[in-house]
Amino acid sequence: MGIVKGLLRKMITAHGEDNSVNYSLNLDGESVLNMNELVGKEITLRFGGKKNCVNCGRNIRGKTYNDGYCYPCVTTLPQTDMCIVRPHTCHFAEGTCRDEEWGKANCFTEHILYLARSSSIKVGITRGSQVPTRWMDQGAIEAVIIGRFPDRKAVGEAEVCISSHFSDKTNWRKMLKNEVTDIPFEEYIKTAQESLPEDMKQYLVEPDKQFTFEYPVEAYPTKVTSLKFDKLPEIKETLKGIKGQYLIFDNKVLNLRAHSGYNIEVEF
Ligand SMILES: [Zn+2]
Repeated sequence: MGIVKGLLRKMITAHGEDNSVNYSLNLDGESVLNMNELVGKEITLRFGGKKNCVNCGRNIRGKTYNDGYCYPCVTTLPQTDMCIVRPHTCHFAEGTCRDEEWGKANCFTEHILYLARSSSIKVGITRGSQVPTRWMDQGAIEAVIIGRFPDRKAVGEAEVCISSHFSDKTNWRKMLKNEVTDIPFEEYIKTAQESLPEDMKQYLVEPDKQFTFEYPVEAYPTKVTSLKFDKLPEIKETLKGIKGQYLIFDNKVLNLRAHSGYNIEVEF
C-alpha cells in the first residue's frame, strides 16, 4: 500500500533484453512507481480538478493541448508547432521557425523512417533518439527501421511519398484489443522502398533488425471504453494490463498520456 501524487506526464518506458516493456509512472517529471508490478492488483487513481501546463506550470482551467500544454505555450513553443505533426511542412528555410536554436537541435538531426505493427502496419518517422520509446508509446508489437534521414523535413517528405500505400494511424481500439495483422513486414518494406523517389533512396537502410515488444497484459479487452478524468475523477479498478500509454481495466481503458498536466494521486 502506498500513495504517490503529482503532475502526470506520459509513462516512462524501458525495453528489456527479453523484449518486455517496463513502465514507470511519471509524476512531476520523475519515475515514481513501477507500473508492471501493479498489474493484477486493484489501484485507485484520483483527479482533484487541478491542471497545470507541463511547460510553464500555469494553472489551466479548461482543456489542455498536445499532452498537457496551456494555450499560450501550445501557440508559441516550437515542439507544438504544426510542422512537428506534419514534418514535410517544415518552414525553417523561410525563417519562420518558432525557435531556430530548438529547430537546429531537434529537427536537423538524424530521423528514422520505420514500419511498425500496432494494429495494421503503419509507416512512421521519429527522431533517432526516440528509438525504441516511440514504438512502445504506440503499443507496437514489432518495428523495423527502413531509412535514416539527415533531418526532419527530408524524412517527412519520404513519409508523404509512402503513406498513400499505408495506414499512417494506429487504430488504438484494435491495438488495445490485440487485433493485430500478421501480414509479414517483407512485402510492406518492398512497397515502401519502391515508392520513394530516386533521390531519397540513398537514405534507405537494410532493415535487418526487427524490434519486438511484449506488454504486461493479463487480459486484453474485448470492447474498449475510454475513461476520462474530467468525467470520472476517481477510478478504482483492477489493472489488467498496460499497452501503449494506456492502462487497461477489463473493457475500460485510461490513456495516461492524454491526461498529461493533470494533478493526480495514485493509491496502490
Ligand atoms: Zn504553458
